[in-house]
Amino acid sequence: MNFDVETVRRDFPILSTLVRGKQLCYLDNAASTQKPQVVIDRLRDFYSTENANINRGIHHLGELATDAYHGARRTVADFINAFSEKEVIFTAGTTESINLVASSWGRTHLKKGDEILLTGMEHHANIVPWQIVAEQTGALIKVIPVNESSEIDTEAFDSLIGERTRVLAICQVSNSLGTLNPIKSIIAKAKAAGVTTLVDGAQGAPHLLADVQELGCDFYVFSGHKIYGPTGIGVLWGRAELLDSMPPYKGGGDMIQRVTFEKTTYKGIPQRFEAGTPNIGGAAGLASAITYVQQFDPEELRAHETDVLEYALAMLGDMQGLTSYTRASKRAGAVSFTLDGIHPHDIATILDREGVAIRAGNHCTQPLMQSMGVNATARASFAMYNTKDEVDQLVNAIKKAYDLFS
Ligand code: PLP
Repeated sequence: MNFDVETVRRDFPILSTLVRGKQLCYLDNAASTQKPQVVIDRLRDFYSTENANINRGIHHLGELATDAYHGARRTVADFINAFSEKEVIFTAGTTESINLVASSWGRTHLKKGDEILLTGMEHHANIVPWQIVAEQTGALIKVIPVNESSEIDTEAFDSLIGERTRVLAICQVSNSLGTLNPIKSIIAKAKAAGVTTLVDGAQGAPHLLADVQELGCDFYVFSGHKIYGPTGIGVLWGRAELLDSMPPYKGGGDMIQRVTFEKTTYKGIPQRFEAGTPNIGGAAGLASAITYVQQFDPEELRAHETDVLEYALAMLGDMQGLTSYTRASKRAGAVSFTLDGIHPHDIATILDREGVAIRAGNHCTQPLMQSMGVNATARASFAMYNTKDEVDQLVNAIKKAYDLFS
């Protein structure tokens, strides 16, 4: 289907909200996206007509729920171009997916002196789980610095990746900077050095950049709620041979073959990593979100998003006293900035009065903020339903903030 932003906007009921009499301008999409009516309907329909537990119930509803859940896995596998649907593990979100890999893969494969390579622009979700496993195993964390252009220092990367590097965990798109990392070439180098790779796709998947075969990584993770789906559902994709070699991350029902008090044997993937009752409705909702996104020509959708982002960068770039941290030559999704003399939290508060929802703070990237020499930035982040008119609304609201503070 051709991409028409006005038609798309009508699919998202919340976008017609008035905030204190002003038209809502929702620019906090990197934190969480809004949901189209089809996703809202899918959740209602699932709980109205299909709800039951999965895999166990030999009854009509149990079969419907089981079909919905496993059908969702097929939809995700197709969306990310997985080699096989059994490589798709449902989790609670990106955070849980990374914790699963760090804990299960990390504790199995890392030992004292091994190195975990991260970048200076990672979200806490792609730092802390690795620190936990580093403490447990004696492995060391190494960090690829971010340069003045908000990009990964590739020379530093070349010198940091070495014989002791076991894993590289890197975000595809920085939630704080909007930097689109050159994942393919970085992964190719890591692979050549025998390093296992995890791509944090939390901010990449929503911009339709989640082709795991194209990227060449070993693990890819993302959250449903950032791609127009429900909260509480996310994905870990991993190469089957790697997932097969990993022990369970949590134990419980549905992941076992046989339990005795002496010994328990486990199912294969994906069930081995999905102990307990999963978020069945969430999986169905995520599948409908993906199907919704897939109806559009991906090139057109991306072209629209790029158009709006570049317009925002140009408009904000012209504003006096504004420092933009979105400087990378390749970027997606977000503009991060500060204004002279106004704290980012004050910017966000004043913008909210104008109906403009942005985020202010460290964006769960404290080490990045420290390296940039700031405590916080203001961040406007865009989704497929945002428009240039909304960028104008943002710019006018920022001008009002200036007037108030000058
Ligand atoms: N990684 C990145 C790059 C993110 O932007 C986020 C959330 O903002 C996360 C990880 C964590 O995602 P979640 O809170 O959905 O688990």
